[in-house]
Amino acid sequence: MKITVVGTGYVGLVTGTCFAETGNEVTCVDIDVNKVAKLSSGQITIYEPGLEKLFERNLKEDRLHFTTSLEEGIKDAAVIFLALPTPPGADGAADLSFVLNVADQLGKLITDYKVIVDKSTVPVGTAAKVTAAIARNAKVPFDVVSNPEFLREGVAVDDFMKPDRVVIGTESERARKIMGELFAPFVRQGNPVIYMDENSAELTKYAANSFLATKISFMNEIAILCEKLGADVDMVRKGIGSDDRIGKRFLFPGIGYGGSCFPKDVQALVRSAEEVAYDFKILNAVMDVNEDQKLFLLPKIKAYFNGDLKGKHFALWGLAFKPNTDDIREAPALYMIEALLNEGATVTVFDPEAMNNVKQQIGDKITYADHQYTCLDNADALLIATEWSVFRTPDFSKISAALKNKAIFDGRNLFEVSRMKELGYHYESVGRTPVL
Ligand code: NAD
Repeated sequence: MKITVVGTGYVGLVTGTCFAETGNEVTCVDIDVNKVAKLSSGQITIYEPGLEKLFERNLKEDRLHFTTSLEEGIKDAAVIFLALPTPPGADGAADLSFVLNVADQLGKLITDYKVIVDKSTVPVGTAAKVTAAIARNAKVPFDVVSNPEFLREGVAVDDFMKPDRVVIGTESERARKIMGELFAPFVRQGNPVIYMDENSAELTKYAANSFLATKISFMNEIAILCEKLGADVDMVRKGIGSDDRIGKRFLFPGIGYGGSCFPKDVQALVRSAEEVAYDFKILNAVMDVNEDQKLFLLPKIKAYFNGDLKGKHFALWGLAFKPNTDDIREAPALYMIEALLNEGATVTVFDPEAMNNVKQQIGDKITYADHQYTCLDNADALLIATEWSVFRTPDFSKISAALKNKAIFDGRNLFEVSRMKELGYHYESVGRTPVL
C-alpha cells in the first residue's frame, strides 16, 4: 500500500519505518528542512533502539522516502497518517493548530479517495474538526480515522511491530477495511484490533496515559508514606504487584513522570473535562503530586549539606526522561538541574544519549562529561535521575575515589539499600530506609 506519514518525529519516523518494513511504500513529510535532508541522506534523527537498522534497510530498498512537500508526499497515497505535534496551549488544552493546518491543506490537495488517519494524541471531537477542515475544500470523498498511538519511547519499534492492541476509530466500512488490511501484519499473534467510534478512540488514548500517570503518582505518595512510617516501598510494591488486578508494572516510585506525553496528556484531559463542566479531581491530584515529586530529592540533599548548596558541585547521571531514549521533554533531571543552579551549586552531567539535546536547550549553564565516571570528578555528591542500565551495576570503587563525599541521592532506586550500607555510602532514595 502507498502510505504517507505527515510529521516525522518520534511517532512519525517509527510509524513510517515500520510500515515500510511490512512492504508498504512510505513517504514521510516534514516541514523541518534539515530533518528531511538528514533522513534522505541516510542519517537518523532520533535515538530509538532497533530503529536505525530498519530505517537503513528500507531506505536502501527504496520503500522509504522523505520530502518537505505535502503535495508531493501524498501523491498516490491510499492512507495519510498525521503524526503531528499536539503541544499544550496556554490553558493546558491540546493545541490542534498543527493538525488542523495540515487538514486544511489536505482538503485542497487530495484528488481521489483517501483515508486520513489521526495518530497524534488529540481530544475528543478532533476527528470531526479534521473532517470539517478537509471538507471545506475537498472535491473528492475521504474518511477521517482516529488511530491513537500507544508506542513507548525506548521500545517504540517493538511496540509498533507487536502492539498489545490497535485501536481504530471509524464508522466508515471502507476505511475500516483498509485500516484492517494495513495493520494485519502487526497482529498476527492474535492481539486485538479494536474498532470503535472516533470519540471513544480519541478518549482511549488520554484515558490510557492518565491511568498510567495515576499509577505513578499513587506509588510516589505510597513511597512518601513509606519513609514517614518506616516501611520499604520495594516490599510494598512487590506485595501489591503480585495481585493480578493491580499488576507488577508501573509501580516504581521515583522523581516523577516526564516526557512529551504524560504531562501534556493528563493536563489536556483535565481541560477537556473542564470544557464539559466536570472537575476531574483525581487527575488534578496526579499533576500536583508529580509537580512536587520532581524535586523530591532536593530537601534531602540540602539537609546533608546543612541547608547550604552554594559552591557545592554535583555529578548527575541521567538526563533523558526515561532510559533508552534521547528525549528530554519535561525530563525531571532538567528540573533538578534548575533547582541546584538556583541554590548556587554547579552541575556536571552524563547521559548515554541525551547530552546533545540538553546542550541545545541549556548550553553551558552546566558541564558535560564524556563518561559516567569522569562526570564524578570532584563532585560533592552523585545524583541519579534516569534508570539507564549502565548505571545499575557501577564500579563503586571508582565512584568513591572520584567523589569528595561518599554520598548518593538516587531518584530511581537503582541500588540495594543493604549494599550501600555495606559500602559505607550516605545513600538516599525514594520510599526506602535512608543510609545516613
Ligand atoms: P515530535 O515533535 O517528535 O514530531 C512532530 C514532527 O512534526 C516534527 O518533526 C515537526 O517538524 C513535524 N511538523 C510540524 N508541523 C508540521 C507540518 N505542518 N507538516 C509536516 N510536519 C510537521 O512529536 P511526537 O513525539 O512524534 O508526537 C506526535 C504526536 O504523537 C503527538 O500528538 C504526541 O502526543 C503523540 N504521541 C507521542 C508518543 C511519543 O512517545 N512521542 C507516543 C504516542 C503518541
